[in-house]
Amino acid sequence: MAPTDQPALDPRFARRSAGLLASEIRALFAVASRPGVVSLAGGMPAADALPTQVLARILGEVATDPTALQYASGQGDPALREQICAVMAAEDVRADPRDVVVTTGAQQALDLVTGVLADPGDVVLVESPAYVGALATFAAHGVRVRHVPDDGAGLSGPAVAEAAERARRAGHRVAFLYTVPNFANPSGVTLSADRRAQVLTASARAGVQVVEDNPYGLLRLEGEPLRALRAMAPDVVYLGSFSKILAPGLRVGWALAPAAVTAKLVLAAEAAVLCHSSLAQAAVARYLSTEPWGDHVKGLRELYWERRAAMLSALTAHMPPGTRWRVPEGGFFLWLGLPAGVRAKALLPRAVEAGVAYVPGTGFFADGSGDDHLRVSYSFPEPAVIEIGVRRLAEVVKSAADE
Ligand code: PMP
Repeated sequence: MAPTDQPALDPRFARRSAGLLASEIRALFAVASRPGVVSLAGGMPAADALPTQVLARILGEVATDPTALQYASGQGDPALREQICAVMAAEDVRADPRDVVVTTGAQQALDLVTGVLADPGDVVLVESPAYVGALATFAAHGVRVRHVPDDGAGLSGPAVAEAAERARRAGHRVAFLYTVPNFANPSGVTLSADRRAQVLTASARAGVQVVEDNPYGLLRLEGEPLRALRAMAPDVVYLGSFSKILAPGLRVGWALAPAAVTAKLVLAAEAAVLCHSSLAQAAVARYLSTEPWGDHVKGLRELYWERRAAMLSALTAHMPPGTRWRVPEGGFFLWLGLPAGVRAKALLPRAVEAGVAYVPGTGFFADGSGDDHLRVSYSFPEPAVIEIGVRRLAEVVKSAADE
């Protein structure tokens, strides 16, 4: 919204609350869940991906121990923090459990990190496009978001250096660079090994803290795993989550940070929630120590591989000329470039009318650009439903392109 369009703020509210605006995605959930509408909008794990029976048993078991029903440490259960280090080791991130803070999902980790590292008015550098939930957090904290231009392969060293320099020339403090290097939400882009090194070098040279968000890293569907930024540079703040590899409803994520940052994150977590759900933490810790979680993740890769294949073949079969996409090597999302003149936001009501929902690209840019793209997700609908949804989407895009 341009500054002149801002409605007058209710005098009861903090100025910062002006950043609390309804997210495009939240509004979409209502329409997308109408009967008959195929939602390619949300990034929810597949229903079949949730180990309901195992978790029902484990939750019952852990609830018999009173400590799982008590207040606990704000940093999180020590046994779980040990297990989290084992999960990160699967991606070559070596960590000490003392540097891990358990959080209520990676989303809260992002909120705490922002509160600890950024003052209102500071600049946070982000990808183009960037995760909508991160943009919401940054807006709530009153920080200025600056998108680093994307040359088609994600972040680059020179682009990060220039964005940092430009922010500083404008008189702003650069609090950190936020990035999702693996199968980014929404672009699906994976940063190459060379780009990872470039970005770390440029950030270090510019004195910019890097915050790496990696909820999808273990969901690689093809290609060789690349080292996490945190595996390459120990001063990176790393965010992880059990939402995509176990169950988002448990709301268990974490931050791994240098010791001084960790200490502040623990204090911020305690100020926010005293402690995280002891029950959920105990359940995740028991799940990781008693179940073959690596096999579960392997099963998830097979499941999402099939759904990605269904989406790619439907897109190839049905989308009109001028629609562009790149094959994501993992994760949940595809970023579609639309034929010339087709606007994702204006098209959405027609798409919903035709029985399909997506997220317009505008949700992923702080300045509301991105209307020539949309995000579709293959994680939730079954393959046959994906085919129906893409066919409907192709019809509305075709009719808009022909107008
Ligand atoms: N980061 C990214 C890139 C995400 O896509 C999501 C979930 N959509 C999150 C963080 C938040 O995940 P959680 O459920 O762990 O809070």
